[in-house]
Amino acid sequence: MWDEIFQPNIFKVGKTYTYTNNDGVFILATMVRIECPECGEEFIGNKREAGLFLKGHTIYHQHIEELAEFYGGV
Ligand SMILES: [Zn+2]
Repeated sequence: MWDEIFQPNIFKVGKTYTYTNNDGVFILATMVRIECPECGEEFIGNKREAGLFLKGHTIYHQHIEELAEFYGGV
């Protein structure tokens, strides 16, 4: 069922691919695997997407911390 909604990741970490998706054309993009230092969630994709993943997590964790401070926690 999930395969109908989310295509399985065909990219292998460390390999280089030329492909296109809704974001544009990627030429010789190396697939990387990274981990959020805050929560340990992992991501596999090109470096651009990996950067967005880290940026998104940074903003998310910062937001949660600010919420916690607002409500008197941490
Ligand atoms: Zn995280």
